[in-house]
Amino acid sequence: MSKVLVYSEVHGDTVKSVALEILGKLAGQEVDVAVIGDLPEAGVKALAEHGAANIHKISGNGLDNYSAEGYSKALKTLIDKGGYDYVMAGSTSAGKDLMPRLAGMYDAGMASEVTNFTMDGGTFAGTRPLFAGKVLAKVEIDGPKPHFVTVRPNALGMPESATAGAGNVSEESVDVGEIKAAIKEIIKGASEKVDLTEANIIISGGRAMKNAENFKILEECANVIGASVGASRAAVDSGFAAHSMQVGQTGKTVAPSLYIACGISGAIQHLAGMRTSKVIVAINTDPDAPIFTKADYGIVGDLFQIVPLLTEEFKKIM
Ligand SMILES: Cc1cc2nc3c(=O)[nH]c(=O)nc-3n(C[C@H](O)[C@H](O)[C@H](O)COP(=O)(O)OP(=O)(O)OC[C@H]3O[C@@H](n4cnc5c(N)ncnc54)[C@H](O)[C@@H]3O)c2cc1C
Repeated sequence: MSKVLVYSEVHGDTVKSVALEILGKLAGQEVDVAVIGDLPEAGVKALAEHGAANIHKISGNGLDNYSAEGYSKALKTLIDKGGYDYVMAGSTSAGKDLMPRLAGMYDAGMASEVTNFTMDGGTFAGTRPLFAGKVLAKVEIDGPKPHFVTVRPNALGMPESATAGAGNVSEESVDVGEIKAAIKEIIKGASEKVDLTEANIIISGGRAMKNAENFKILEECANVIGASVGASRAAVDSGFAAHSMQVGQTGKTVAPSLYIACGISGAIQHLAGMRTSKVIVAINTDPDAPIFTKADYGIVGDLFQIVPLLTEEFKKIM
């Protein structure tokens, strides 16, 4: 058995679901959770139900807004105290920023963006996609502990059943000293939708959307089926969609249950970000578009006709 610390981001009233996915996979290990800042009761409950033994709420000067420097110093204080073998987090924007920095502080090994892992005998072994998902590497970590791991959101899936942990909450006050690059303000985007990396359904538009206004037809469909809206880089570079919506090698990596690609050709860099989606639907006027080689269901046709038709059909069953 190993002692594991899971860093969980707080999202609204609760925690980001990737933390619960990781907890589910860690059943049988001794698992604590760290959050920075306040954690509403619903978050405490979810973490305890998924196996957290201790939930450390860390606070202190300089931790009001996220900064890799402040948060890594805060987590290091806790890791030093707890003597953890592994520290794990989702490979979200913050997780990807924070965990390598912490690994660097300890001069320790790290496995990034794993899509699955085992803890046989308390030893981590993970699977990690390489070369835009063309190769699945088996990764183990050598060297002194703690070892660090980030896990791709939605890849493990939520556990079907979980063994509850004690969920003892402790308040940890830390002094992170001076932060050289402090974030003064965070302005949230207009969208209240679930972050793309955590979305269960995504409907994305490509260059064929023609302009930002036309993304409304995707929004309408998304509202009916509870999806988040994504975009290809061509759509983002053309100014039709925000960069936070970009899926792909230089955007977000997503693994929803359902990915609907509308007017997206299926370039390798786009596929790199969505090929692990459970079901892929492609709508494209070109029957030879590469996206169809990866799609489970393909519709050859004009998205401006098909998407509104789908929206109407979805309305009947939702
Ligand atoms: C280093 C690097 C990193 C990159 N990173 C990314 C990334 O993160 N994400 C990403 O997406 N791309 C990325 N790209 C760009 C990538 O190579 C492609 O250029 C891009 O994905 C193409 O976007 P698209 O499919 O929307 O546009 P296009 O390739 O132009 O495809 C548009 C598609 O729409 C179809 N179409 C046209 N009209 C309609 C209609 N009315 N209805 C239905 N279908 C229609 C066409 O048949 C075509 O297949 C990267 C490139 C490089 C070099």
